[in-house]
Amino acid sequence: MAQTQSLQCPGCAAPVEYDPQAAKLKCPYCQTLIEIQSDDHAQPVVEMDFEEARRRAAGQAGEALGGLSDKAVQVECATCGAAVVFEPPEVAGQCPFCTTRIIAEPHTPDPLIRPQGLLPFSVPKPAAMHSLRAWLASRWFAPNDLKRVANPDRLEGIYLPFWTYDAEADTEYTGLRGEHYWVQESYTEKVDGRPRQRTRNVRKTRWHPAAGRVHDSFDDILVPASKSIAAKRLDDLEPWGLEKVEPYTAAYLAGFKAQRYQVDLDDGFGAARERMEPAIRDSVCADIGGDEQQILTLNVAVSGVTFKHLLLPVWLGAYRYQQKVYQIAVNARTGEVSGERPYSAAKIALLVLAIVLAIALFAILKNY
Ligand SMILES: [Zn+2]
Ligand SMILES: [Zn+2]
Repeated sequence: MAQTQSLQCPGCAAPVEYDPQAAKLKCPYCQTLIEIQSDDHAQPVVEMDFEEARRRAAGQAGEALGGLSDKAVQVECATCGAAVVFEPPEVAGQCPFCTTRIIAEPHTPDPLIRPQGLLPFSVPKPAAMHSLRAWLASRWFAPNDLKRVANPDRLEGIYLPFWTYDAEADTEYTGLRGEHYWVQESYTEKVDGRPRQRTRNVRKTRWHPAAGRVHDSFDDILVPASKSIAAKRLDDLEPWGLEKVEPYTAAYLAGFKAQRYQVDLDDGFGAARERMEPAIRDSVCADIGGDEQQILTLNVAVSGVTFKHLLLPVWLGAYRYQQKVYQIAVNARTGEVSGERPYSAAKIALLVLAIVLAIALFAILKNY
């Protein structure tokens, strides 16, 4: 495996961490800053051939399979099943997804498709905390206990796995083109008890058969490869600014964890294919033209599929409230917050009581 940059401070030999603000490695003891060196294998972010990677995954492991670095270790959470990779001296601690203490023995990571690129952390932890506090303050229904999550120690920096796919789609379709036209209809209406003959304009649609072929190009369809966080949570963190993706270099992971992908390359493509569908239908409707369209058959041939495996940075907070785990995620590039929260029964009861009282008061005043 390729040599990765030493993660020791040249001054005091302490382990260094990636510093989002300086965009360099930093020694937490003597504050020495060290420039990131690309790993030997780091190339410009390249698209990988999908069919070739599939064949390789089915057969023997190829050069794209490996670990995140030569020193990384992996642990699995016994409660939620997430596999997390990190660099010593970082320790497993608690599971960033479900807050369970991880007691499993660290081991060498199972081989995986190496990431082609990542977006390094650029929002430091205090700034992420600030976004989180503002988000919590704007949630009226959040129980007071929720505020306790706003504890910086509870936020963990983790790289989440994603796939992106590029593809070409050639679609043959049959359908119907609807054209609107107007007709005058006469009808009878009763005026002063007597029937009167009237006319009105009514819109009708004339349908014509349509058939043809359309082409769509897809670039960077982003699919989460983590099942530990609801897809909705992750969608809410967009946009990521994927044009800023850096070639994968292990040094960016120093001081952070990285989640191993849970959705494989094939299933990820299935999800990408679903995300392509609405755009294909739009192209077909535009090609059919007219005022309304019906699609009867679609025959989609997908070709030229390439993919990238990316790691995207998130500050993750998870907390337990009345036996339930809630997650809050902060996009570590933009500070965007996405989270779930429990509704406070006490606060809702108070609101309902206030509304009932207001109605009662209104009724009393009306009768005066
Ligand atoms: Zn040092
Ligand atoms: Zn867990």
